[in-house]
Amino acid sequence: MEKVKFYPVKGYIDFQKGATADIERFWEKEATKLEWFKHWDKVLEWEEPFAKWFVGGELNASYLCIDRHLYSWHKNKVALYWEDEAGNTKAYSYFQLYREVNKFASMLENLGVKKGDRVVLYLPMIPELTIAMLATVRIGAIHTVVFSGFSSQALADRINDTSAEVLIAADVGLRRGKYVPLKQIVDVALKAAPAIKKVVVIKRTSEEINMVAGRDLLYHDLIRDAEDYVEPRPMESMHPLFILYTSGTTGKPKGVVHSTGGYLVYINSTYKWVFDISDESVYWCTADVGWVTGHTSIVYAPLLHGATVLMYEGAPDYPHPDRWWEIIEKYGVTIFYTSPTAIKMFMRYGDERIKRYNLSSLKILGSVGEVINPEVWEWYYKNIGGERCPIVDTWWQTETGGIMISPVPGIELVPLKPGSATLPLPGIDAEVVDEEGKPVDTSVKGHLVIRKPWPGMLMGLYNNPERYKEAYWSKFKGLFYTGDYAIKDEDGYFWLLGRTDEVLKVAGHRLGTAEVEGAVIGAPFVAEAAVIGKPDPIKGENIIVFVILKEGYEPADELKKEIVKEVRKQIGPIATPQEIHFVDKLPKTRSGKIMRRVLKTIMMDKPLGDLSTLEDEASVEEVKAVYEDFKQMMKKKA
Ligand code: AMP
Repeated sequence: MEKVKFYPVKGYIDFQKGATADIERFWEKEATKLEWFKHWDKVLEWEEPFAKWFVGGELNASYLCIDRHLYSWHKNKVALYWEDEAGNTKAYSYFQLYREVNKFASMLENLGVKKGDRVVLYLPMIPELTIAMLATVRIGAIHTVVFSGFSSQALADRINDTSAEVLIAADVGLRRGKYVPLKQIVDVALKAAPAIKKVVVIKRTSEEINMVAGRDLLYHDLIRDAEDYVEPRPMESMHPLFILYTSGTTGKPKGVVHSTGGYLVYINSTYKWVFDISDESVYWCTADVGWVTGHTSIVYAPLLHGATVLMYEGAPDYPHPDRWWEIIEKYGVTIFYTSPTAIKMFMRYGDERIKRYNLSSLKILGSVGEVINPEVWEWYYKNIGGERCPIVDTWWQTETGGIMISPVPGIELVPLKPGSATLPLPGIDAEVVDEEGKPVDTSVKGHLVIRKPWPGMLMGLYNNPERYKEAYWSKFKGLFYTGDYAIKDEDGYFWLLGRTDEVLKVAGHRLGTAEVEGAVIGAPFVAEAAVIGKPDPIKGENIIVFVILKEGYEPADELKKEIVKEVRKQIGPIATPQEIHFVDKLPKTRSGKIMRRVLKTIMMDKPLGDLSTLEDEASVEEVKAVYEDFKQMMKKKA
């Protein structure tokens, strides 16, 4: 710790407070850092809970990320390096990216895609994903990236919610030396999502794929007829840039909508502050573009800054556990951004092997997605950062568009405290409140809320303003509800303490308990299901399922396998349950709500606490007994 070069804190906190006191003035100045086709008339229209930023202004994300770099030496600089786990590589200069994006945009126009149309992208981590996103927004269409680890059912649900007509997919993805048959998954999904009229398939291999006549088209054929240039259309600041689905408290994923102007202004400034990103940066974020971290950190923010981005396709430790360190050394990565789950996995492999690699190019390390505990922080700091690089523990969400709480070495590096995301960014009015919405005392656990709008704030939920109000603005009047617990210490530092709601974080991936329960109930023999997250030292949480079987079925391993199959079919491998327990009753309140808290407490061998709302105590005894048997069985196995 002592060796971090700390800059004086003085000034930063005052600056942060000043910015937050007058958000309109502050964000207006930040907005001038982008090139606008038309200046805004008004900085903010705030009609709670809907914020409109830079009203009347016009800009284009594709132009800002690519075209404007062509007028400088950036033109021939590498914009994007790509490598896969097998060692295949590609590199695109800003000019080459510009060419590809224009052709892709022309292809979309030839398919009839217009401003406001939704385009679903179901692609693995390949450069064409970045190209497709920038091409879509170039013509004012709206992209919805669906994580390529999601199953056909999850894909179909998202397509149906957006009522998109065009889908871009690849024949396969690559993971641990095996192909993931993405096109096959698409074919199944489209049986349940008939609105899609055209599927553009990016063929990467010679694998045979099924092509449906009239619907499925090959990218390589279409691109031959595409124009080299498509004008980047000026878009109103509040024109939606993308929809990204995320999990909430009900089974149905929420379509978070982000604006063009506010989102771009927000991420442009925050990536400078947090990562000190510049045109000299070689920036590697290990997330998948299918999550918000990937949208912002792999596509929009680094390209806005004319940085060089690295994109990697494959598993972190395949074909060997040093794959990532090899890549940092090879490309001279300067900013490395990953999740605590990944760091914990590498900790298991030990420190010695890392020493073989030259990681001296690294300047800043980032962490995102879950709480990073102090032990993991220290390991990351010492072994990857060589006790040289500050760690930016960045707290944010799909809904916030960009980072909200984090150290800001790009402005001034406050003293770091391992395990704390430190202070809110300038212009962000974060607070920890009690059940009444009143600020809690120092070091008292409460709900993390945001008290003023910020430009990266979601515009709403797609086609669902009521759910937007309900999910984020109904718990506390006038406060944006994040769904996270936190405490604030005596220095005003924020310590995140996990979710308050029914949202799971498995290896940094956000999944709703209701979503997984919905999938479990999809097995024809399941009458009822309850899902909880059980803390796991590596993955953050594991999925544990409790099942009540329908009459006529007896608990059996075969049924467990069927349940796993069903979950993987409906959501994807990321939601695979770790344990499945059969019970006759579930602990419920008198009004019939499953008390997941009780299940979780039993799993963690903790005191049960207040059970006054419990309907039937026998259910608790049964769960305890089932879990005891399970533990005995595991002991025997070990
Ligand atoms: P997502 O919308 O999928 O990016 O997930 C957002 C959630 O991830 C937040 O609500 C937090 O629960 C968690 N999260 C993200 N970043 C951090 C962090 N740095 N520390 C603790 N939790 C985090």
